[in-house]
Parts: sequence; structure tokens; C-alpha cells
Amino acid sequence: MSTTPKYVYTFGSGKADGRSDMKDLLGGKGANLAEMSSIGIPVPPGFTITTEVCQDYYAANRTLPEAVKPEVEAALKQVEAQTGKKFGDASDPLLVSVRSGAALSMPGMMNTILNLGLTDVSVEGLAKKTGNPRFAYDGYRRLIDMFGSTAMNVEHEAFEHELSALKKEQGVMLDTELGPEDLKELVKRYKAVYTKHVGEPFPQDPKDQLWKAIMAVFNSWMGNKAVQYRRIERITGLKGTAVTVQAMVFGNTGNNSGTGVAFTRDPNNGEDEFFGDYLINAQGEDVVAGIRTPEPITQLHDEMPKVYQQLMDIRKKLESHYKEMQDIEFTVEDGTLYMLQTRTGKRTGTAAVQIAVEMAKEKLIDEATALKRVSPDSLNHLFMPQIDPKYRQKARAVARGISASPGAAVGKLVLSAEAAVQEAAKDPNARLMLVRKETSPEDVAGMHLAKGILTATGGKSSHAAVVARGWGKPCVVGCDALSIDEKAGRVTINGQTVKVGDYLTIDGTTGEVWAAEMPTIDPTIPEQYFTLMEWADKVRTLKVRTNADTPEDAVKARSFGAEGIGLCRTEHMFFEGQRIVDMRKMILADDEAGRKKALSALVPYQKQDFIGIFEAMDGLPVTIRLLDPPLHEFLPHDEAGQGEVARQLGIPIEKVKRRVEQLHEANPMLGLRGCRLPIKFPEIGDMQVRAILEAAIEVQKKGKTVLPEIMIPLIGTVEELIFLKKRALAVAEEVFGKAGAKVDFLIGTMIEIPRAALVADQIAEEAEFFSFGTNDLTQMTFGFSRDDIGSFMPIYLEQKILPIDPFQTLDQRGVGQLVEMGTAKGRKARKEKHGEHLKVGICGEHGGDPDSVVFCHNVGMDYVSCSPFRVPIARLAAAQAALAGGGTIARDK
Ligand code: PEP
Ligand code: MG
Repeated sequence: MSTTPKYVYTFGSGKADGRSDMKDLLGGKGANLAEMSSIGIPVPPGFTITTEVCQDYYAANRTLPEAVKPEVEAALKQVEAQTGKKFGDASDPLLVSVRSGAALSMPGMMNTILNLGLTDVSVEGLAKKTGNPRFAYDGYRRLIDMFGSTAMNVEHEAFEHELSALKKEQGVMLDTELGPEDLKELVKRYKAVYTKHVGEPFPQDPKDQLWKAIMAVFNSWMGNKAVQYRRIERITGLKGTAVTVQAMVFGNTGNNSGTGVAFTRDPNNGEDEFFGDYLINAQGEDVVAGIRTPEPITQLHDEMPKVYQQLMDIRKKLESHYKEMQDIEFTVEDGTLYMLQTRTGKRTGTAAVQIAVEMAKEKLIDEATALKRVSPDSLNHLFMPQIDPKYRQKARAVARGISASPGAAVGKLVLSAEAAVQEAAKDPNARLMLVRKETSPEDVAGMHLAKGILTATGGKSSHAAVVARGWGKPCVVGCDALSIDEKAGRVTINGQTVKVGDYLTIDGTTGEVWAAEMPTIDPTIPEQYFTLMEWADKVRTLKVRTNADTPEDAVKARSFGAEGIGLCRTEHMFFEGQRIVDMRKMILADDEAGRKKALSALVPYQKQDFIGIFEAMDGLPVTIRLLDPPLHEFLPHDEAGQGEVARQLGIPIEKVKRRVEQLHEANPMLGLRGCRLPIKFPEIGDMQVRAILEAAIEVQKKGKTVLPEIMIPLIGTVEELIFLKKRALAVAEEVFGKAGAKVDFLIGTMIEIPRAALVADQIAEEAEFFSFGTNDLTQMTFGFSRDDIGSFMPIYLEQKILPIDPFQTLDQRGVGQLVEMGTAKGRKARKEKHGEHLKVGICGEHGGDPDSVVFCHNVGMDYVSCSPFRVPIARLAAAQAALAGGGTIARDK
């Protein structure tokens, strides 16, 4: 027997059909309203139509399943009974809101319609019942606007135009100066706009309004804004949005009413302090839209002491119930408090660390939960730059707004999200500062590209603040000293003019703004970070090394907890000063003797670098890779540069040109590079091996422990490795003989050509370790040139041909198979042939990507290696992988 699914879940009056763990079905909002209702927190009654209905709606070509209708009718009756009001009633009408809500929060991305149920008849009833015709007609005109623009595609501007015209006629500046008769007139005009654009009058049947509004919310799930947001936030696999229909309560019935949004702890720094804003006599949208600048929540203590106390109690109750920091919305209607929403609060990385550690210390959660709570990528935020205090003294800030998301950002002024997108297309490294009166969901693409965001209006919970904080991007809002002239391409801040393209600096921690490019420094790290990292290190089994090519980077990485170097790219050592000259001499030499001479000049530099790195990594393994890139990368390709090389080396420019031409390859990534270089020019490899081992002996003589690992890149056949290993061992013998000393060292290989993964068993008989070079492995497995993906990757992602850029997060299904197979085959062969464990790691960019780190743990690698700043991220991701016990990690967005 097939059972019909339940499509509608009701809540209110201390009861509910749903629970907070039903987010997939009821959306975050619906699930939490149900939960709040059942734990006795006051919520206006309502019901939620499930995400499965959304799924069915799209599966059936945007039609609702029949069975939804009677369930909605019944639920509506229940709300009428609970409120004692009737939908569309002529004397005391029930009004409802219709809101979207997916399993993951997507702030402002989908539609909301308020005041549904108002008609020409019921508006009179509401006016009489409340004794406040102004309020009733204001609600009605807002409904026509919201319903028209979100459900029926009428331009919002068409309504705004009427509002401005009426204000002008009446000679008033503010909406609030319009009286009841004015608003009655405005309703008339709005209805005319509606009829003109829609081709039929504004619906006078409240049920008709309700169904159209429900469809509008479902339609908004596939709207541009929402689709774009899901792409940026990498949100996939959701069924759709739920629709929550709820009795309206009003924060704008007078001075005994109000509305606000708050966090149970400070989402910027994680302090255990109530944080938020409110507005007296306002509707919820007014706070979030950032149109009026709200008051800090602590002030409510004086204005509405009883409500404030009730809110404080609810704050405690919610935290101990959810065991998590909450982001809440509330409305006070004539002195009565209602909670409209609670959800896990978005927070900065710094706050995430502090809250997780403090909650574990408060015994609300355990250490493992604390570790799972922090998204590894968000740790980046702790290392965000700050304004250099030396200069902070000297260059006074030109204004101060509200601190919305911490960290310092410096960038060139852009005045629209589109301008940011255009500038970034011209120069992907452009540092941009997006300045707006306020932001809206349309702006997210441009906001994402900007280094920082500054707005003239809005509070800590305005759109700009919430979105920026989620991304860990510095943001200052409510900077009322800022006036923007978009047409003229400039802003004035307290009398100082800044033009588009000029630098601005913001400090999202203090709210300060400078009309200048301020120097920045690295931040101070909160102590909770170290505690969290200690907990992470206790549980993880995967080691974390770093990719570093200089002693400075090695020192920095070690301070971040790196347990060795997994990749030292030696080519980076040949680009500075005299080194590049000697390198070019080597490349331009006519014969082996010439090359050897030039190479011997390079040995001291190489040795010096290695000594610095070995010292910094005393006691830890250091993997040094032999030269990898094609040689043409060391020669200039333009005439002027080639002339300069000819002069420096005292040779004719023709010779330089000829050599550049000779080195030209149709596919340099598949040409003379990697292990092919020392096979063709063995003296290059010999020089590097000599420098590594001589440096190691020197450092060992100083009483330090050196663990060098010589890594040969781009191996595709075991014969290549045999050839180079033999040479390396011969050099080692010579070096040790001369020095009268020895060091233990390993010779291993990168696995970065698909063939190498396929014949990993053969290779492992010769290699003492494997390191997966997943940049090249991805390049060669997909056949995507890693330097040319810019021309097609965006469309691949947009069209969902790929779920994610495979150069950023490892493609587990394809490339991952090679990694898994290479590891298994290599380990087995090494064990069988030599009776030992083959050490396996990864040193492509994926080594610092949390999801890829989880994969590496699951494959059983020994270590991941990543850039210094990503070491903490990898440590935490490795801990989460260990806690997940082989499963994937569901990350909170
Ligand atoms: C790789 O290919 O993954 C790698 C680490 O080497 P490179 O990026 O230097 O080619
Ligand atoms: Mg490579």
C-alpha cells in the first residue's frame, strides 16, 4: 500500500508536528519554528509546506501536487482557530506572511511576502479593529508592492515611483509623514500600477493571494539570485525550499512595538555577549534591509525592560537547547514578544573558534563537537591583516561607521557590484573596495570579488554585514558620513572626496574608514585558537607538512604547526639577482662543459638555501624536488628582455633568440620538463643532488637532525626513476666520500602523470616515497591545461558540467581513483619487495583544501602538504576527517 506523504506541518500554541532535525524537509526556518514552539518559546502560529512539494513542483513542470491543497486548507483553519481571526474577514482579518526557507540558510536570496489577506474589504476591518487606519493602509500598500514585484514580476520601481510622486505632491520627505488618507490614495495608485502591469486587478480573494504567493516562493528557488548564491557558496544537493505561512504580528503598531535581530553571542569576536539591533515601531524588513539605522540591542534594556529580560531568558534557553550560537529575529506587538526565527548564527572564523572552545569549556558541547563546529577554511579569518598601528596613529580615520565584519581591507573604490565584476575581469588581482548606500542580494557577485565592503546605511545585521561576515570579508556599514555620487564616480566622506579608482581602507573590527591606502600587518591570534589546534592534533592521524621554498616560509610554516616540508620547489630559487644570470648562462651554454661551469656557480646558492631550510626544519623531514619547469621559463620572451640577457652574458642577441626558439614547444607542460630535464642534461640533476647532500652534512655537523628526501618529478615509467636514482646514488657516494660523513636520505617520486599511478607497483619497487602532484595529475587526467582553464571553467561550473573546480577540490570520482589505486598498488608492492611501508603524501594545491584533505585521510595517506597559511586549515580538516571515521563531512554553511 502506498502512503501519501505529509506535505504540511503545523506549529504554534506550544505544539508542533515538526522538529529542528527536519531541516531537509521543512527548511531551517520551518524546522526551528516548530522546535521553538514545542519548547514553549512564543511563536506566532503557522505551517510549513515541505521541500518535497518544491521538488514535486519542479518535477511536474511548475505545478503543485493536488494533495497539498486540502492540507493547506486544514492548516489555515487551525491557524484561524489559534488566533481567533479569519482569513479575509471584514472585521478582524487574519494576516499571514509567506516565506521561503531551505535546509541551508540563503539570506535574502528568495522571496518573502508579508500582510497577505488584506483586501479592499479586510483593510477596513483592520483599520477599525486597530483604530489605526494609517497602519492598515500602509500594510495594504506594502502587500501590493511585495506581492506585485515578487509574485507577478511588476518592477518594484514602478511602485516606488508612485510613492515618490505622492510625497512630492504632499510636500513631505519621509514615508512616515504620509497620513492615512495619503496611504489610501497610495493604495489606489499601487492597484492601478498592478492592473496595468499584470493585466488584471489585484486579487481580492485572500486564498488566491495565498496560492500565488506560495508559487512565487517556489519559483524564487530557481531565480537568478538564488542560483548564483548557491554556486558561490557551493551549495548542492538540496531538495528545494520549503514555504512557511505564519500569522503576522506587527512591530509597527506604535511605540510599544518593535522588531529586531540578534545573536546570542557576538558573531564578530565570539564574546559571550548579547549582540544585535532593533527598531521601535518598524517591520522586520526595515532592520534587515538597512534602510533605517537601528539601535543596539542593549538599549532595549532601558526602552522595554520586561521584553529585554524575556529576550535574555530566551537567549539562554535557546543556547542550552540547541547547544549552539543562535541568530534570532523577534517582533514585539503592543508589548508582547514573539520569536519569528532562530537559526545557527553565521560568524567570523575568529568567533567560530572562540565560541566552539568556550562552549566546550562551559560543557555545553564536547571537544570533538567543538572541532567539528569550525569550518577549516574559516580559520583564514584569524590571520586576516590588521592596520599597522604605527600608521594608525599618524593617518587619522576620516570617518567611523559600524563594525560589521572584522579585519582590515584596502582597495580601489568601485561603486557598483557590476563595476567590481568588470574590474576583476580586467585584473583578477585587483584590490577593490565596494562602496554602496546599502547592498542587496543582486550585489553578491561583486561583493565576493571585493576585498572589503563599505555601506552608508544599515546595521550589524544588514545584508552587507551578514554576507561579508559569512565570507570573512572586512565590512563597515552605517557610515553616515559617507555620501555617494555614483553618476559622478566619487564619494565624499566628511568633506573628503575619493574618486573611483582611488584607494580606501576600512577596519571592519573598529568601523574606521581612511581615504588612503593604509599599511597592514599580520594579526594577533586569540588563545582559543591554540586550544582548538591542540585538540585537533590529539585526534588527527594524518600529518601536515608545508610547501615552502625559502627558510622564511619554512619558519613561518613551522610556527603554524607544519611537521616538515612536503614540497620545496627548487626552481623558485633561481629567479633572483645573480642566480638568474647563472641559470641563463647554464641554459645558453654550448656544451656540457659550459653547462657544468655555470652550474657550479649555482651550487653555493642552492646549498645556502637548503642549509636555511634544513635548520628551520630541524628534526623534521624535508622533501626537495629537482628542477621541474621547462627551461624557456627562465628566459625572457620579449626583445628588450632578450637584449638585456645578451648584454649581461656578453653574447649576441641572436644567440639568445635562437635558444628561445629552440626551446619553444607546442605543449610545454608535456614537453622537456620534470625528470626529462636531468635525463637529457644529467649535470643539472647532479648539481642539485650535490647541493642537497652537502647542505645536509653541514647542518648535521652543527648537531641538528636532517631528514632529506630527494623527489623526482613527472615520472611516468619506472625506467626514468631507475636512471635518475642511479645517478643520484653515485653523486651521494662521491659527496659522502669527500666529506667523510654521511646522512640518511630517501629518494622518491611524484605521482603526477596518470601512467605513474597505473604502474605504481613497479615504481614503488624503486621509490622510497610517493607524493601525489595533484595539480599535474588533474591537468593530465582531465586533459585540461591548468593555465588555460579561465576560458571555460566558469561556464563548466555555471552549467554544472563540473560541480566544482577540480584544481581547487580534488575530483574524487576520477583523479581520486588514480590516487587511491596508486597508493594501494604502491604500498602493496613496496611491502612485498622490501618489507616496508611506503610513505605516501600529497603536495598539489589540494593538500590545503579541506574536502580533499578528508579524502587523503580516507585513502590512508601519511601526510598532506600545503602552503604555510593553510597548515592550520589542513590540521583541523585532518582532525575532522579522523572524527568522521572515513565518512564525508557535512559542513554547515
Ligand atoms: C603538482 O603538479 O601537483 C605539483 C605539486 O607540482 P607543480 O604544481 O609544481 O607542477
Ligand atoms: Mg607538478
